Amino acid sequence: MFWGEVMTQTKTHTAKLDVVVVGAGFAGMYLLHRLRGLGFNARVFDAASGVGGTWYWNRYPGARCDVRSLDYSFSFDKELEQEWEWTEKFATQPEILRYANHVADRYNLWPDMQFNTRIEGQTFDDATERWTVTTSAGDVIDAQHVVLAVGTLSAPKLPEIKGIDSFKGAWFQTQKFPKEGVNFLGKRVAVIGTGSSAIQSIPEIAKTCKQLTIFQRTPNFSFPAGNRPLARDEVDDMKKVYPAYRQTARQSFFGQPAEEPTQSALEVSAEERNARYQKGWDAGQLVGILGAFTDILFDKDANDTVAEFVRAKIREIVKDPVTAEALCPYNHPVGTKRPCLDTGYYNVFNMPHVRLVDLKKTDITEITATGIKTTAESMDFDVIIYATGFDAMTGSILKIDVTGRNGLKLGDVWKDGPSTYLGLGVHGFPNMFTVTGPQSPSVLSNMMVSIEQHVDWITDCITALRDKGFKSIEATDKAQKDWVEHTYEIGQTTLYPLADSWYMGANVPGKPRVFLPYIGGVGPYREKCDEVAKNNYEGFALAK
Ligand code: FAD
Ligand code: NAP
Repeated sequence: MFWGEVMTQTKTHTAKLDVVVVGAGFAGMYLLHRLRGLGFNARVFDAASGVGGTWYWNRYPGARCDVRSLDYSFSFDKELEQEWEWTEKFATQPEILRYANHVADRYNLWPDMQFNTRIEGQTFDDATERWTVTTSAGDVIDAQHVVLAVGTLSAPKLPEIKGIDSFKGAWFQTQKFPKEGVNFLGKRVAVIGTGSSAIQSIPEIAKTCKQLTIFQRTPNFSFPAGNRPLARDEVDDMKKVYPAYRQTARQSFFGQPAEEPTQSALEVSAEERNARYQKGWDAGQLVGILGAFTDILFDKDANDTVAEFVRAKIREIVKDPVTAEALCPYNHPVGTKRPCLDTGYYNVFNMPHVRLVDLKKTDITEITATGIKTTAESMDFDVIIYATGFDAMTGSILKIDVTGRNGLKLGDVWKDGPSTYLGLGVHGFPNMFTVTGPQSPSVLSNMMVSIEQHVDWITDCITALRDKGFKSIEATDKAQKDWVEHTYEIGQTTLYPLADSWYMGANVPGKPRVFLPYIGGVGPYREKCDEVAKNNYEGFALAK
């Protein structure tokens, strides 16, 4: 049994609950801790057999965070913050999973969590103003509130390629890597995809496999992570200043303290510009590059300067000029597809057993019993890895059959794209909250900061409802329309809409193309949420 997993349930299901929490990732765990502390009868359900969410599932080689560990951790309890010891600048998946298990142990969350259980449906009863929630384990739960802590990158996606099931070798999705790992020694391995999961795993797989072929549809911008063990005094110094540091993070743009840029990339000399990009490149932090100037995410000409800086680096590192050019991204501005932090990614292409297949030139036509066929050739493999991403932000929410007021289906309401108020509530679906939902800063931030902010807001809200005798809360149509319009308007001022990215829903055939997160900044967004709460939940209708 994997450490920390719960194979047998420790408690019989409660049929009537104040709150059902869906998901036992960091969001679900913190929700449970807070809700119980506030006196609510809450229970967490997860399809996984343990806690950790993202870090439970994504066990591919090289998986680690790309927000610094010292930032990518809970801040709600000073003792937890002081006692936990991160060992690397960017913690590995096993270390983050250990942290998640430590949190579950420390706050004794286990008795109120139910694993191996998928929430399949939830229906709102207009008469009782409560939800009936059904699970894959056959539970039927009557709950006043449902909080969807289902994750934004938790619905993995296979590519629409003919023949996936006909492959007779071993195949894996990065999100569903086996717990026992995979031995690549002597194997001919194919990786499809060049997003963050691929870029982290490729250098690790290359170390032992016999032959590695990478199938690239779109090259990505990647920066060296500069990962390293954390020094003792570095950790101690952070622990001394944590309270003030976390406060700055909460008010910052991306949820990580960073020097605020004051100049346009176009108003300084080329030398000065490149010196700042070099500083960001050496620092190994995405905020260092994206935040080097005021206009990188807003002005194409400014963005081109950093794009060219990265392309020059790729040409410098990768020896074969044809491969180097194929690795150079041209079709989207830097940052508009999630950029990556890597450990030796571009260097891999100098290894004699590694080959890049540029799918823009020769696309995959099918997966065969023995390998992969492109328009140019057939290749045999022992292992195929699909690093092909997620149905992001809405995928896991819409997998649940959600029926709101008057039989309204969430899938129908969102058929042209999600509509939410603050990424927290949806008109027509009272007493349902989403954590880091669409139209909140979410994936454009250090997610730990955004998770804590949402959980605090939601649990404060549920407490206020109880204390003031309200039975339900529902986003108003008007507030929701205004928020969605504001989200789109602000998105349009950026370069994000120029890319076929998962931020735009463009990686899923048939998914409406809309900008999914909120790019107004973590700090200003928090202020808006606080103001709404202070004004008696302005924009929400409350009912006794
Ligand atoms: P998740 O961790 O996704 O957990 C959601 C849980 O809900 C899952 O366990 C899932 O099984 C469960 N679930 C979903 N639907 C159902 C259902 N219907 N019934 C029952 N259970 C359900 N963010 C950062 O800020 N920094 C990083 O460095 C970073 N690195 C990442 C690396 C990877 C490989 C990935 C995929 C994402 C990364 N992220 C990162 C984003 C990451 O998802 C968040 O940081 C965070 O872990 C999300 O926590 P969560 O609890 O909201 O959701
Ligand atoms: P991703 O960024 O969406 O990358 C998926 C890759 O698969 C893309 O290169 C995509 O190409 C390719 N692809 C999809 N369908 C394909 C097809 N039919 N044929 C060929 N190629 C195909 O997914 P991900 O790498 O799993 O990362 C998702 C997000 O999770 C990241 O953006 C990040 O937010 C988070 N994450 C973070 C880390 C970290 O460093 N901490 C690690 C992993 C994930 P196109 O670009 O052409 O669509």
